[in-house]
Order: sequence, then structure tokens, then C-alpha cells
Amino acid sequence: MIIITKKDVTQEQLDHIRERVESAGLRTHVSRGEERTVIGCVGDEERLRALPLLSVPGVETVHSVLKPYKLASREFAAEATRVPLGSAEIGGDEIFIIAGPCSVEGADMLRSTADEVRRAGGQALRGGAFKPRTSPYSFRGMGEEGLEILAQVRKDTGLPVVTEVMDTRQVELVASYADVLQVGARNMQNFALLTEVGRLRRPVLLKRGMSATVKDLLLAAEYVMSQGNPNVILCERGIRTFETATRNTFDLAAIPILKRETHLPVIADPSHAGGRRPLVAPLSYAAVAAGADGLIVEVHPDPECATSDGDQSLDFPEFAGLMAGLRPFAEAAGRTMRSGTEAVGP
Ligand code: PEP
Ligand code: MN
Repeated sequence: MIIITKKDVTQEQLDHIRERVESAGLRTHVSRGEERTVIGCVGDEERLRALPLLSVPGVETVHSVLKPYKLASREFAAEATRVPLGSAEIGGDEIFIIAGPCSVEGADMLRSTADEVRRAGGQALRGGAFKPRTSPYSFRGMGEEGLEILAQVRKDTGLPVVTEVMDTRQVELVASYADVLQVGARNMQNFALLTEVGRLRRPVLLKRGMSATVKDLLLAAEYVMSQGNPNVILCERGIRTFETATRNTFDLAAIPILKRETHLPVIADPSHAGGRRPLVAPLSYAAVAAGADGLIVEVHPDPECATSDGDQSLDFPEFAGLMAGLRPFAEAAGRTMRSGTEAVGP
């Protein structure tokens, strides 16, 4: 159930509305926008229906949210959510680019990649320290040493870092280094992990599971948000289908659908979707044209020697080319792109 207040609602009236709802046993979430304030109510709606809410001072309208996700639904927020990160925010006018290697492989390669990401206009650095690999015999990441390298490169370049957390037992450790906790496709329905990252305020980059519907993804976001963490960024990264020409099937339609269904920022991962370097740029352009708020892209100084996902990792000139090529698509979608020369840092 959501309550939309009158435009001139006072703080006293707002508090009073919340008290009425909470005394009926429901939880309230207030979202203030420039135009309106929305009070989202979660709990047994039958108990609210018994209250004459329309006669409470300050209330404009009351209506039910029929979707199974509540906090994540567009109606629950007065405006689109912007997740602050570093010197920028995800979900604002500026297209937000997260780029970096699939895995952290060492200090030098991460530092040179970070310099290139910043130079080309990227706003955050990615790099996995704990890697979910399909085969247990593949490189599974540098672990805590990788986290230390990420933190050092953040210090040196000013770029916030995004890295994956795979297990509830790692949340505290990863959160002590990372600016954004990535929950990978294989863990999208790891409800214990979603609950754990929901207890923090650290932004969570939630990737769509390979066989998850848009609704499943939004319910996974709801898990995180229901624990009190509103900073969720959704990521379309392709799903499994019968098609084998690409690593995954990029579900472009999911982007405008998500933008309609939720107030949360939505980004795309063209690297894991396409699985091959030549596909990364066209999928990126399509995602931005379709309304994505940003991208997460794999970039490596020498893709041929990458320990993971080299086939889909762009080298530095390719990444710079992608960034230049994105600009007209961003502008056509009514967005802006940070130019490399504007990039700031310590
Ligand atoms: C990754 O970002 O390197 C990764 C493993 O992604 P996904 O969880 O989408 O497969
Ligand atoms: Mn990868």
C-alpha cells in the first residue's frame, strides 16, 4: 500500500500518518521528492484498509501496490533512486561506466587499467578478487590480496571499486575494502547472501541470474532492500537460452521494462552477455539507447593473457573507442557522458 501526501504536507502530519500506519502493525518507508512525498507501507494491508486513511490530515491518495515487490517498485519512490558513488552517482543524467578486469591479477595491471578507465571517462573500477568459476580448476581469484590491491589502486587513482562477494562469510571482509558489493548471477537467489548485504548500507550491484525472470531479479532486490539497504543497482548481463552464438542472450527488453517497474538504477554488462570482444560495443550502444543508466565492462591491458574472460575483455584502445562511440547514443537518449579530460582524482 502506498500513501501519497498532499503537496504542502507538514512534518507533523507526516509523522502522524506514519504513527497511524505503524500502530496498525505495518512498516513505513518515506520517499520525499520535489513534487510529492510517498509513504510506502509494508505488512498486512487488510489492517490498513480498516483505517479511514483518506480522512487523516495531509493524505492525498492511498492505493495498493499489486506487484509482489514493494520497496523496489516504482510506485514506492517519489523519484528515481540515485546511488552515490565516488564523485558521481548511478541513476542520474550522466551515464555511469564501471570498467576493469574480470579478475584482479596483480597491482601493476590493475593500476594501468584504472589509469586508462579514468583517462577515458569511466567513473569506477571493477575487478574480482573472489571469482565464481564454472570449473573448480579455473583461477578462482587472488582473495584478500586482490582486495588489498583494489584498495591501494582506489587510493592512488580516486576511482571507487566494485568487487564480488560470493559468500555470507566473506561479506565483512569484502565490505571492509569495496565501495560496491557485487552479487553475481550465480548468487542472485542466494537469499542468505542477499540478507547479509542488505544489513549494510554499502551499494549492492545485483546481477540478473542466468535463468531469472525480471520479476525474480526485482524480488532479489526486495530481499536486500527489506533489510534496510536502499542502495541497489540492477544489472542485465544476459540469460541462458538455446542460442549458442553468444555466451548469454542479452535481454535488451529487460532494460526498459526494469526502468518502468522500478525506481532503482539499471546498468548492463555487455561483456558477459556477448562473451566476445566484437560484440561489446554494439551491445553497449543498444543498452544505453534503451535507457540503461550505465555499463559494467571488462577491460584488460593484455586480453590474450587474462586469467579469466580474456575473450570478452577489451584492450585499452578498444575501450577508448567504446567510450567515444557511446557518446552519440547517450546524447540521443537524453543523457550525458563524462569526458576523459574532465576526470578528476587525487
Ligand atoms: C563477473 O562480473 O566477472 C561475473 C562473474 O559476472 P556474472 O556473475 O554476471 O557471471
Ligand atoms: Mn568475468
